[in-house]
Amino acid sequence: MSAGIVQAAYIVSALFFILSLAGLSKQESAKAGNYYGIVGMAIALLATIFSPDSQGFGWIILAMIIGGSIGIHYAKKVEMTEMPELVAILHSFVGLAAVLVGYNSFIAAPESNTHAEHVIHLVEVFIGVFIGAITFTGSIVAFGKLRGVISSSPLNLPNKHKLNLAAVVISTLLLVYFVNQSGSTFALLLMTAIALAFGYHLVASIGGADMPVVVSMLNSYSGWAAAAAGFMLANDLLIVTGALVGSSGAILSYIMCKAMNRSFVSVIAGGFGQEVSVSSDQEQGEHRETSAEEVAEMLKNSKSVIITPGYGMAVAQAQYPVHEITEKLRSKGVDVRFGIHPVAGRLPGHMNVLLAEAKVPYDIVLEMEEINDDFTETDTVLVIGANDTVNPAAQDDPNSPIAGMPVLEVWNAQNVIAFKRSMNTGYAGVQNPLFFKDNTQMLFGDAKDSVDAIAKAL
Ligand code: NDP
Repeated sequence: MSAGIVQAAYIVSALFFILSLAGLSKQESAKAGNYYGIVGMAIALLATIFSPDSQGFGWIILAMIIGGSIGIHYAKKVEMTEMPELVAILHSFVGLAAVLVGYNSFIAAPESNTHAEHVIHLVEVFIGVFIGAITFTGSIVAFGKLRGVISSSPLNLPNKHKLNLAAVVISTLLLVYFVNQSGSTFALLLMTAIALAFGYHLVASIGGADMPVVVSMLNSYSGWAAAAAGFMLANDLLIVTGALVGSSGAILSYIMCKAMNRSFVSVIAGGFGQEVSVSSDQEQGEHRETSAEEVAEMLKNSKSVIITPGYGMAVAQAQYPVHEITEKLRSKGVDVRFGIHPVAGRLPGHMNVLLAEAKVPYDIVLEMEEINDDFTETDTVLVIGANDTVNPAAQDDPNSPIAGMPVLEVWNAQNVIAFKRSMNTGYAGVQNPLFFKDNTQMLFGDAKDSVDAIAKAL
C-alpha cells in the first residue's frame, strides 16, 4: 500500500470515528455508532499493517490473534456491572503503551535533521511517558476501587496537595534537565517513577462518590496519552483519535462534574479543596418493612408511579421484571415513568442501557432535572437498588461526603418503597436518612426476586 493510500485510509477512518462518537450520543443511534467505530478501526488497522513503514508482518498478526482472543473472551464474559472495571483496566493498557512507545522512541530515536526537531522529539517523549505513567497507575487504582479490592474512601495523606504540586514541579524541572542534556536516561527514569506515584496518589485521594468523574477523566488522559504516542510515532491517525478520545473524555468529565455539583479542577487535582468527613453511623431511627403483596396493592391504587433505579438493579439484573410490572401497570392506566440520576449505577448511562436492553420505551425514561419537580405529585416511588442518588443528606447535611450533589428528591412523593437487601450503605459509604423517613418502607431481598414477586401479585 502506498503512503498516499495509507493517508487517505486514515482520513476515512477518522471520519468514521467522528460518526461513531456522534452516533453514541443518542440511544436511538448508539448501535449505528458502534458499527461506525468498528468499520473505522478495521480500516485503521488494515492501513497500518499494510503501510510501507510496517515490518514484521508475522509478529503483528500473532500479536493481534493473541490480543484479539483475550479481548473477545473478556468482552463475552463481562457482566454489565463489571463494565466500568473493564474500561478502567483498558485505560491502564493505553497508559502503559504510551510509556513503552516513549521509551522505545527514546532508545531508537528517529534521525533529526535540525536541533529544533531533536528538542521537539525529546519533549514529546517526556510528556508522552509522563501522561502515560499517570494514566497507568491511576487506572489501576480506579479498577481496584470499582472492583472493591481498594477502599472507596479517599486516601488522606498529610500535605497531599503539596505532594501533588511537588510532583508537577519536580517533573517540570526534570524536563528542562532532560532537554538540556540532550536526553538523560536518569531524568526520564526518575520522572517515570514520580509520575507512577503521582497517578496512584491522584486517584487514591478521590472519594467513592466522585469515581464517575475519575473514570471519565482517565478516559480523557488515555486519549491524550494515545495522542502523545501518535506524535512520537509520527502517526496522524493516532494523533486524531487520541485527541477525539481526550477531548470527548474531558467534556464528559465536565458534564459529570456539573451533574454532581463538583468543581472540575478540584476533582482532577485529587479532591483539592474538599474537606471530607468520615461518615458517622449516628442513630437514624427505625425503619419499616413491607412485603411484595402490599407493594403490589399500593401500586394498583396509585395513579402515578416513578421508578428510580440504581446500581442494585444492575447487580440483580432486575430490568426485565421491572419492564414487566411497568407494562402491567400501564395497561391498568397507571402513569409509570423512570427518573434517571446522571451517575446512577457504575458508568455513565448505565441505567439507560439496562432499560433499553429490557425494551422500556425511551419516552418514559426521564433525566433527573426533567422529573425532580414531579415527585410531589407522585403517589408511589420505587427506589430499585439506588442509594447515594436518592440520599437527602446531600441536601441536608453540609458535612456529608456527598453534600451538594444533586439527588432525586423521591422523599417528596406520598409513598417510597426502597428495594435492597440490607441496611448497608451505598457506594459513597454514607447512611441514607431516606430509609428512616415516615413515608418510606423497605422491601428487603434481591431486587429481581422482589420485582418478580410484585409482578406475580399484580
Ligand atoms: P449505590 O451504589 O449508592 O447503592 C446501590 C444499592 O443497591 C446498595 O445500597 C445495595 O444495598 C443495593 N443492592 C446491591 N445489590 C442489590 C441486589 N442484588 N438487590 C437489591 N439491592 C441491591 O447506587 P446508586 O446507583 O444510587 O449510586 C451510584 C454510586 O456509584 C454513586 O455514589 C456514584 O457516584 C458512584 N459511581 C457511579 C459511576 C457512574 O459513572 N455512574 C462510576 C463509579 C461510581 P444492599 O447491599 O443493602 O442490597
